[in-house]
Amino acid sequence: MRRLLFSIVLSLISFIAYAANKPTVYLLATGGTIAGTASSQTSTTYKAGSLTAEQIIASVPGLDNLANIKYEQVYNKDSGNVTLSDWLKLANEVNKVINDPNVSAVVVTHGTDTLEETAYFLDLVIKTKKPIIIVGAMRPATAISADGPLNLYNAVAVAINPKSIGRGVMVVMNDGIYDGRDVTKTNTTNVDTFQSPNTGPIGHVVMGKVNYHDNGRANAYDAPFNISNIKSLPSVAVVYENVGVDTEMLDNILKTKNLKGIVIAGVGDGNIPDYEKDFLINARKKGIVIVRSSRVGSGEVSYDYNNLDTTYDLIAGDDLNPQKARILLMLSLLTTNDVKQIQKNFYTY
Ligand code: ASP
Repeated sequence: MRRLLFSIVLSLISFIAYAANKPTVYLLATGGTIAGTASSQTSTTYKAGSLTAEQIIASVPGLDNLANIKYEQVYNKDSGNVTLSDWLKLANEVNKVINDPNVSAVVVTHGTDTLEETAYFLDLVIKTKKPIIIVGAMRPATAISADGPLNLYNAVAVAINPKSIGRGVMVVMNDGIYDGRDVTKTNTTNVDTFQSPNTGPIGHVVMGKVNYHDNGRANAYDAPFNISNIKSLPSVAVVYENVGVDTEMLDNILKTKNLKGIVIAGVGDGNIPDYEKDFLINARKKGIVIVRSSRVGSGEVSYDYNNLDTTYDLIAGDDLNPQKARILLMLSLLTTNDVKQIQKNFYTY
């Protein structure tokens, strides 16, 4: 009896010591398909943001062997419904938990539709070298071969890996590790949807085994964007170019109250039709800052293509897709509307 008691106490002590040595990962749940449930295992319609953080964590076998998981439900929605004030709330939450010395890393569960935008936003505003990983799923938790549990397991494995330190915000999906700046969703339904068309993945993670391909690019953890005292972000529109744009529609955009910036998803190398000349001139007269991006899907926008930037005082969006160029423009506009300075930001972050 005494021997049994002794061995129970011993295993209890070693369990406590083991738990104390494990890193602590803070999971912030925001909804999405990873928290989605459907009425059948093969249904293509389901309700995103149905399961709680606690339920998601409980569905991943072995997660507690990797790390001590703390969690919080920041919101629980389809990521198509995420608002700019949700972003501020999430960023402030990440800032709060990441600054706890007992927390090694943060994992955010998120819907995939706007995941790439949240990843880039957080990359620009969170000041830490600790890993921040965003993860989602393409199939709801109730589906055959749901991808959420392994994605989350891999996300936590990446979060606690020492080689993940100082790489900024990363996205872990379908065994790939992607830089939050470069990644984009490329397929509406396939689990292999997330890609970085310009750079490729920065690493892979297979059943929790992490393998980086390089040392990672310089990241934005010290970017000069501070949202801690910000109640709202500047209004920035995205204009998608196509053949024969109705310029009256463009003129109406300029009537938008408080519009501070426009990102043009141009054709080809961020090209803008000649007949939009007055739109560009009028927008600049109103102080609206304009960034040229491209609707093409990969590649960078060359500075002053067709003399557009020097003629109309525009900014070349480098290799950011239009939705990400909008984020960098919004954050830049918090402190400046100087075109030269904002152009510099586009070449830096
Ligand atoms: N509509 C879902 C969302 O973004 C899609 C997903 O998570 O895969 O929340």
